[in-house]
Amino acid sequence: MTHYDLHCHSTASDGSLSPNALINRALEKGVDVLALTDHDGTEGLAEASTAAAGTTLKLINGVEISVSWHTKTIHIVGLNVDPANQELQQGLSALRQYRQHRAEEIAKRLDKAGIAGALEGASKHASATMLGRVHFAKFLVETGHARDMNDVFKRFLVRTKPGYVPGQWASLEDAVRWITASGGQAVIAHPARYKMTATKLRALITDFKAAGGVGFEVASGRQHPEEVKVMARIANQHELYASCGSDFHSPDKQWSELGQITDLPSESTPIWQLWQ
Ligand code: AMP
Ligand code: MN
Ligand code: MN
Ligand code: MN
Repeated sequence: MTHYDLHCHSTASDGSLSPNALINRALEKGVDVLALTDHDGTEGLAEASTAAAGTTLKLINGVEISVSWHTKTIHIVGLNVDPANQELQQGLSALRQYRQHRAEEIAKRLDKAGIAGALEGASKHASATMLGRVHFAKFLVETGHARDMNDVFKRFLVRTKPGYVPGQWASLEDAVRWITASGGQAVIAHPARYKMTATKLRALITDFKAAGGVGFEVASGRQHPEEVKVMARIANQHELYASCGSDFHSPDKQWSELGQITDLPSESTPIWQLWQ
């Protein structure tokens, strides 16, 4: 059986392994097909591709685009994107610029809450082009303001807490268009995590499909099988292809290890059927 992991992160976004180390770990964990899907950028793909060459691992060029849809932040994974595509890169580059601006705003707000030096502190943990909340979280843990990552995302950087900045990301239509224009397939990432009502989720899917989206991440990491079944049913109702991915960020998060993903139910139509 071929083992697919179609969602993970490297140091090119907020993951803690370099693309090279990530490929080696994926091989160790028995992954056959891996999509590297860094947030709002494709910088890690060249190194990952070099690392995967000559191994048994097939690398899929991916990305995870941040989207603002109504009041929510939604993530759209792109699979088989062409990193050389101009429209895609222009879109991603605007998002990374916004990230820089948001980072300054986060630092200002932390400063007002009595935490100085956050921008410099977070930047030390980040690649040159992608600054995210995880990098601030590492700074807050390192400086003793929080116990661990979980603690950070309870007490900082989220709605009503110090350092929160409401995101202004890409539109759903733009994100799906950039992915599709570059030859890729757009997938709604970790749908169960948005805590949407069924009605809201249906509205999201309607807009997503109208924009050209084709996939639904039916299984995200070691999600409960019952929840995966619910997601599979929704995907089938809307004729979306099923994707699956660990959303791996770091080896110290044991619950999101590379390749450790609840199986897709047999009634799902896996997205890789499109690739064969
Ligand atoms: P950003 O795109 O910069 O706003 O950061 C979003 C990222 O923060 C996600 O992709 C996760 O890596 C991380 N994150 C969000 N919520 C949590 C949480 N509760 N615990 C750990 N990491 C989180
Ligand atoms: Mn992340
Ligand atoms: Mn995500
Ligand atoms: Mn992710």
